[in-house]
Amino acid sequence: MGKVWFIGAGPGAPDLLTVRGARLIGEAEVVIWARSLVNEGVLEHASPGAEVVESTTIPLEGVRQLYERAVAEDLRVARIHSGDPSIYGAVMEQVELCEEIGLEWEIVPGVSSLGAAAAAIGRELTVPEVSQSVILTRRASRTPMPEGEEIRSFAAHGTMMAIFLSAARPRALQEELIDGGYAPDTPCAVVYKASWPDELVIECPLGELADRIREAGFTRQALILVGPGLAAGGTRSHLYSPQFSHMFRRAEEREDAS
Ligand code: SAH
Repeated sequence: MGKVWFIGAGPGAPDLLTVRGARLIGEAEVVIWARSLVNEGVLEHASPGAEVVESTTIPLEGVRQLYERAVAEDLRVARIHSGDPSIYGAVMEQVELCEEIGLEWEIVPGVSSLGAAAAAIGRELTVPEVSQSVILTRRASRTPMPEGEEIRSFAAHGTMMAIFLSAARPRALQEELIDGGYAPDTPCAVVYKASWPDELVIECPLGELADRIREAGFTRQALILVGPGLAAGGTRSHLYSPQFSHMFRRAEEREDAS
């Protein structure tokens, strides 16, 4: 029968791969990975006898042949994706292919670059009373944005935004963010190659975002974070406040002085 696992490799550092991902890579007879997106260190988990295929060298038809072979020869295939497969992972086209040829499949989650970027700047992305939502998005490119999902319309919410795949045209991005409603002094962070040895971080106000990205020369593998929550120290989380009860603690009675 055969089976393919779509495995989130994490953002870069090979030890940010999950234990499950590492085990499944080790058990696979065929391992498919993309050099431009995934750290080669992840391949250390592959068994010495595994057939390792670098995916940028083969078109989708080549992948199809591999998957058909997996069905015919009952092979276990580990297909390694960057970060978490659920975010811009191009997994659904693979799933469709598997369904079409009758290959069993399963998705194994991974650490997204979102978490790695937040860790790199040492911040929580949800700050009580400042920003309790995170919009994950991108600018349009060859992939158009569906109606109502333009950067401008999301910017109007003023909450935390994490922008993927969008470092190549930073001037247009900055303009859209400001036009949409963020003040030019809104804090931003750009994390290039989060968790890789050559990770770099820029922190600046939105009004300087494009210049700083250009200066640094980032065009890809950079995640852009924008939002007032990046500068806020944060009010105290209710979870740890004595007035807030949750499953394990009952709220202390608040003394009402008036
Ligand atoms: N599935 C991936 C995202 C793939 S889309 C994930 O969960 O992270 C590729 C985009 O992700 C890049 O353009 C960049 O915006 C972001 N990205 C991926 N890895 C990154 C890393 N190590 N550091 C910063 N951004 C990264």
